Amino acid sequence: MPLKFKVWMYFVSFTIMVFVLMWTFQILFLENFYESMKTRAAERSANNIAECYDELQNGTIDAAEFKSRIESIALDNDLCVEIFDRYERSRYSVETLGDCLIHGKENRTGVYLLNILESSDRTIRYTMKNPRSGYNMLLYGRTLGNKNNPSGYLLVNSALVPVGSTVYIIKRQLMLITIVLIVAAFVISLFLSRRIASPIANITKSAENLAKGDFSTRFDGKGYLEAEKLADMLTYAEKELSRVDTMQRDLIANVSHDLRTPLTMLKAYAEMIRDLSGDNPVKRNEHLEIIINETDRLSLMVNDILDLSKLESGKQKLNISEFEISSKLGEIIGRFKGISEKMGYNIVFTPDTEKNVRCDVGKIEQVIYNLINNAINYTGEDKQVFVRQINTPEGVLIEVEDTGEGIEEDKIKLIFDKYYRSENHKREVVGTGLGLSIVKAVLKLHNYDYGVRSTKGKGSTFWFRISSQDVIE
Ligand code: ADP
Repeated sequence: MPLKFKVWMYFVSFTIMVFVLMWTFQILFLENFYESMKTRAAERSANNIAECYDELQNGTIDAAEFKSRIESIALDNDLCVEIFDRYERSRYSVETLGDCLIHGKENRTGVYLLNILESSDRTIRYTMKNPRSGYNMLLYGRTLGNKNNPSGYLLVNSALVPVGSTVYIIKRQLMLITIVLIVAAFVISLFLSRRIASPIANITKSAENLAKGDFSTRFDGKGYLEAEKLADMLTYAEKELSRVDTMQRDLIANVSHDLRTPLTMLKAYAEMIRDLSGDNPVKRNEHLEIIINETDRLSLMVNDILDLSKLESGKQKLNISEFEISSKLGEIIGRFKGISEKMGYNIVFTPDTEKNVRCDVGKIEQVIYNLINNAINYTGEDKQVFVRQINTPEGVLIEVEDTGEGIEEDKIKLIFDKYYRSENHKREVVGTGLGLSIVKAVLKLHNYDYGVRSTKGKGSTFWFRISSQDVIE
């Protein structure tokens, strides 16, 4: 079910629930509550009258005073009062209701008085319908003076009319309020549910576009914080996806270009050997050497791609072994001897005291190799590369410094990303844009710190630290 309807349904159900509760409390309990209030008021008045009657009997007040008192009690409480002496003769009678159950033809006074005497606590309480008016009436009766030897009887009659009419008014009012508010709740909740659901609906629509590959789609979550956050996150994800997409495209362009060059060379030199230099051992060897070098370049690229995909699949486990780091650095630098001599590169190695370390030797070798390879590729005219081993309390720090162009501040974040290659990288520099991603993946797997310091125009220093727990003292 769409969110819009769900929210709307919740709102409406909530409103209906509130009204059901209100009706229950107002109507059911109100009626009972009013009735019990009224009964208590009648009882209280009856007790007051009984006290006055005692005073009359004692002679504290005279008959006139007594009459005025019961009249005022009856008037204040809308009562009809009838007082009988012990011989059941009516002595005092006050009529304020105009319609009393204990006067007139239908009165059953004798029966009431008998009931009073028969009831265990000498009181009676009835609610009955007045046949003339149709209203509910309350009848309360009790003995006067001593319970067992009464000096008189009191009957009090009170109409429950105000209860009925009050409830009726409230009911009418409530009905009106209910109708108005339920209609308002329907409309307001419809409007609100649209407002709540619309940012989500917008975001979903944009996400559908994104899924179709449209990276220019906008995520708009205006309305409330959660939707805005979701929109921001999706915008971020979209940017990242778009970046990876561009990089992947660039990679394919770069890799296919880089693959084509050695392939063309391989084909050309193989043809040359077949057609021209096959019989000339010197030329033939020269050409074969080129073919071998180009094949190396090709396998280097293919290996890079394979290594990274293995590392990133998460299946790659570390193969930990113990080795001495200074001699390992020397050994790796030694591998660049050929190119150093041929191309005039100078790799200056500054070792620290010998240290045995425990890590995946093959992978750390690859890291060092990639860093030195990059330094050679990107170093300046002076063709200098510095490799340093620095033993620190935190571990063995390895730095590879070049004197090249350096890397711009904003690019530093990107260079460890897959497929990233600066736009101005030299064509003759062989690389897939994966070298540093492999470095990052290996170092992360080892949990080693790494980074780069770079000054534009002066060069860069790439570093990583074999953490102290992997250094054997
Ligand atoms: P590749 O060197 O194959 O392009 P890398 O992942 O090794 O790929 O490097 C990514 C990018 O980082 C390079 O294209 C280059 O722009 C930059 N970079 C790497 N090392 C250096 C360096 N020593 N000096 C300057 N830029 C570098």
